[in-house]
Amino acid sequence: MVNEKRLIESFMELVRIDSISREERNLAIFLIKKLEDLGLEIKVDQAGEKVKSDSGNIIARLKGSVKKATPIMFSAHMDTVVPGKNIKPICDGEKIVSDGKTILGADDKAAIAALLEALHIIKEHNIPCGDIEIVFSICEEIGLQGAKNLDISSLNARMAFVLDCGGQVGEIINAAPSQNSLKIIIHGKAAHAGSNPEEGINAIQVAGFVLSRMKLGRIDEETTTNIGIISGGKATNIVPDKVTLEGEVRSRNEEKLEKYTEQLKKIAEDTAQEFKAKAEVKTNREYYCYNLSADDRVVKIAMKAARDIGLQPELHPSGGGSDANVFNKKGFPSVDLAIGMEKVHTVDEYILVKSLKNTVKYVLSIINTVTSGEN
Ligand SMILES: [Zn+2]
Repeated sequence: MVNEKRLIESFMELVRIDSISREERNLAIFLIKKLEDLGLEIKVDQAGEKVKSDSGNIIARLKGSVKKATPIMFSAHMDTVVPGKNIKPICDGEKIVSDGKTILGADDKAAIAALLEALHIIKEHNIPCGDIEIVFSICEEIGLQGAKNLDISSLNARMAFVLDCGGQVGEIINAAPSQNSLKIIIHGKAAHAGSNPEEGINAIQVAGFVLSRMKLGRIDEETTTNIGIISGGKATNIVPDKVTLEGEVRSRNEEKLEKYTEQLKKIAEDTAQEFKAKAEVKTNREYYCYNLSADDRVVKIAMKAARDIGLQPELHPSGGGSDANVFNKKGFPSVDLAIGMEKVHTVDEYILVKSLKNTVKYVLSIINTVTSGEN
């Protein structure tokens, strides 16, 4: 049923439209036209104004013919990371890559292409289904900001399938961590480094002690910590008075998340005090974890739909967040599904045509599972 030529051309066309985070407008205009042609009702929400993007999230609905079927939502994000401008996709018939100067943008346009193809097939073959809602979000790559500001008031969906994960089609992310971000500003005291260093407190050196006392990296199976940015200092002849450390803590366990966030904060404060400096620590909850089991309906549907098309369903916990974290928090039980994109966020990113096709089949199988009510 999948029209391979149409699918590949659609994917190539999508990645040629630049859409780095906060600049999704051109892609949104293109997609609105496509979705309208496929018979969907479209709404664009106000999220763009809140997150300083030139577009809002697209919320589209295909009115289904099967009234008793549970309304479901599929989602994919429109934005890409950098270098993501002027992408030139190359397809050899089996694999699609960029020209090596940019990312490919299969993250997440492979999902968008698959959803459009599935909608084409539903229309062409008059496939019976319930209401299907499609959310194309903005600003996923810069902190899930589109999903966080999604206007859910018009959605009827009872569950969501997010298509935004690497790995083989059939892999289902049923658990993902919470994340706290951490910003530590160490205030020392400036002084002339040559004439009166005694009067200074070297914030860079204090930061060094702070870092050496922190346990960073993998804490346990479900918890990680990282300091990823350090900035400070003005000149070699000035004892530096300010250094900023930025990092994060992730865990699929809320108690551990708070415990390790608190621990890093305390190390910074105590160490700074020891050296007569001061640590100003700001923490922020970026997103919340979710933990679904094989008994949750959305997981059951995802597993059955994979089996029905001969794919091996596999449940995996993830170490990263996606729009599924936000949708779960907003009350839509959601899983994140693998779509076969590989080496994302690098110029070596690629996707196999087979994965694109499998994703289309998988979407149709999920719709069929929900419509038949056998779940
Ligand atoms: Zn993504």
